Amino acid sequence: MLTYTYTSPGRFALTEKPKPVLLHPRDAIVRVTLASICSSDLHILHGSVPRAQVGITVGHEMVGIVEETGSAVTHVSPGDRVTVNVETFCGECWFCRHGYVNNCIHEHGGWALGCRIDGGQAEYVRVPFADTGLNRIPDSVSDEAALLVGDVLATGYWAARISEITPEDTVLILGAGPTGICTLLCVMLKNPRRIIVSEPDEHRRNFVKKHYPSVHAVTPDEVYAYTMEHSDHGGADVVLEAAGSSSTFETAWKCARPNGIVTVVALYDEPQILPLPSMYGKNLTFKTGGVDGCDCEETLRLIAEGKIDTTPLITHTVSLENIEEGYRIFASREDGCIKAAVKP
Ligand SMILES: [Zn+2]
Ligand SMILES: [Zn+2]
Repeated sequence: MLTYTYTSPGRFALTEKPKPVLLHPRDAIVRVTLASICSSDLHILHGSVPRAQVGITVGHEMVGIVEETGSAVTHVSPGDRVTVNVETFCGECWFCRHGYVNNCIHEHGGWALGCRIDGGQAEYVRVPFADTGLNRIPDSVSDEAALLVGDVLATGYWAARISEITPEDTVLILGAGPTGICTLLCVMLKNPRRIIVSEPDEHRRNFVKKHYPSVHAVTPDEVYAYTMEHSDHGGADVVLEAAGSSSTFETAWKCARPNGIVTVVALYDEPQILPLPSMYGKNLTFKTGGVDGCDCEETLRLIAEGKIDTTPLITHTVSLENIEEGYRIFASREDGCIKAAVKP
């Protein structure tokens, strides 16, 4: 079968591999019907994910049809249309039982698919712990509408969930890329008084204005003054940092009001400075919100009810044979690309 493989540091290539087989009673084989390209794939390509294994098929955000299940799998059956969770998790350890599936202590727990084991930019993928990692897609939800459930939407949902947002709040989101917009969609479910989004790319600001007209979209140069002027208590009550550029961590804590919450969703390339003397007395609460995909069933239900729609984010679709073109468009943001889908 055709796969997109991490062949050597700095290089991915289309490669033929044997179709995966069940290796464990809790495995399932899924025929991939739609996958996506994620910025984490680019992080692997650029060498900033040291645990990524050369030789693996990349791709960790996909939907498909269950082809075969191991003898211990009870939650899904062959023929089911499913989302695949970015995280594989045992469902039994202390972390899993508390919803912290990202921190599953099993040796295959956490982000394994498309990083440490073969992922989903391929015709088929083997999914360990299929009972916890696969969720059935409701009949009324298309593959496209469900595509982001297992990774980038899970990230946004988790970030909004841990940020303690109330209806009185002014919420500031830094970044309107795929993660920032998924975070925005999940923040909107909490109905805060105001939402401000800061984004340098004019095309992305216009995307926010067009699709979510109640949201204030501003540039990074404007965001501090704008937030001070458009918040009730001298800054945003909650800031979600989903940009991860060199200055956005500083922007995040500066724009927060005293005693506010700053949730860091972004993945940085460099360490960040927490200048405690400059923020003394501001009494901020910092949270880090890396993806924890424990709510995929809930997000699928919200999609089926029409409360979350990520389809406008999927701006481009390529075939698996043309995946290199998809990577090029996604990485360069050509033609307003936000998310590129891959059809095997
Ligand atoms: Zn990802
Ligand atoms: Zn676990």
